[in-house]
Amino acid sequence: MNEKIAQFFDERRPQTPCLVVDLDVVEENYRTLENALPEARIFYAVKANPAPEILRLLARLGSAFDTASVNEIRDVLAAGAQPDHISYGNTIKKQADIATAYALGVRLFAFDSEAELNKIAVAAPGSRVFCRLLTSGEGAEWPLSRKFGCEPEMARELLIKAAGKGVVPYGLSFHVGSQQRDPTQWDAALQTAAALFRDLESQGIELTMVNMGGGFPTRYLRDIPSAVQYGQAIFDSLRRHFGNRIPETIVEPGRGMVGNAGVIETEVVLISKKSAHDDRRWVYLDIGKFGGLAETMDEAIHYPIVSNRNGSVSPVILAGPTCDSADIMYERTVYELPDDLVIGDRLRIEATGAYTTTYASVAFNGFEPLGAHYI
Ligand SMILES: *Cc1c(COP(=O)(O)O)cnc(C)c1O
Repeated sequence: MNEKIAQFFDERRPQTPCLVVDLDVVEENYRTLENALPEARIFYAVKANPAPEILRLLARLGSAFDTASVNEIRDVLAAGAQPDHISYGNTIKKQADIATAYALGVRLFAFDSEAELNKIAVAAPGSRVFCRLLTSGEGAEWPLSRKFGCEPEMARELLIKAAGKGVVPYGLSFHVGSQQRDPTQWDAALQTAAALFRDLESQGIELTMVNMGGGFPTRYLRDIPSAVQYGQAIFDSLRRHFGNRIPETIVEPGRGMVGNAGVIETEVVLISKKSAHDDRRWVYLDIGKFGGLAETMDEAIHYPIVSNRNGSVSPVILAGPTCDSADIMYERTVYELPDDLVIGDRLRIEATGAYTTTYASVAFNGFEPLGAHYI
């Protein structure tokens, strides 16, 4: 448990549920990633945690930003970033929003279809564009499905067309899936990217950049490889597939930048059983799927949950406080909590710095969005 965060909770006793993020950990994560991938530019994926305190810190450290909406772009600019440090990386944008981003100075845009490329060409003429490739998401605990990216053959055609539409065919992107626990999963996508670079070069189009996305993990219940191992595996793949003509590279860490920097404190609202013989207690917390723990969907992300009681433990089912029956965090996954846990106890949910605050509903059942402190 992070000492600084523990002290904050002990001294301030904030109303629960509440997230506390240690900005020193974010800074450490930034420097670790920078050292592990020294040639790659870091574009922090703002959606993981868009708190102004985090954006200001990363802007000061020299980070660039991957954004998905005009509001995220405005937040990043307000945090002190220059427009040339911003990528509008969402492949699904309204043309009016592309125009607004362009007016704000953004000149780097993602697409994965001809219709999207056309919008960019109209609303952001002269900009650099990169085409997102489909990936399998294999090895990821929060895979990204087929929603994003297109097949390499389509990427090839669209990048050839881009030049004729008045935008700059700048590069390729992919995302190997979030919480990617296998550092070798970048290899196949880099192989595809290198083949496209060569093919397009023979068509007279020289791409410049490969955006290798996010996917860098946070340690939840299971161990993860180190940042150095990711950096090494990715660099080896770049060497293998691009030889001595390694392109400019970008990474877009979200979870890996902020996940381990936050801890949520929650209160036990109810402990009950469904019958006298029930062998598992139901433990209902004041936070659930709608209060910020959306990534427990399909029990995908396994947050460490810690009690300050240290007696014997037994299995529990963990659920949230709302009146929606989907609001169960862990039922299949075995979680154990102390037998002497009582209603009113506080628990700490660790590694919750990413994908929590902004995934909290506005007021479902009248519950407040997740509170947060950045220290
Ligand atoms: C969400 C997202 C990221 C960040 O992914 P993590 O797995 O959190 O690192 C990076 N790039 C794009 C385009 C994204 O949508």
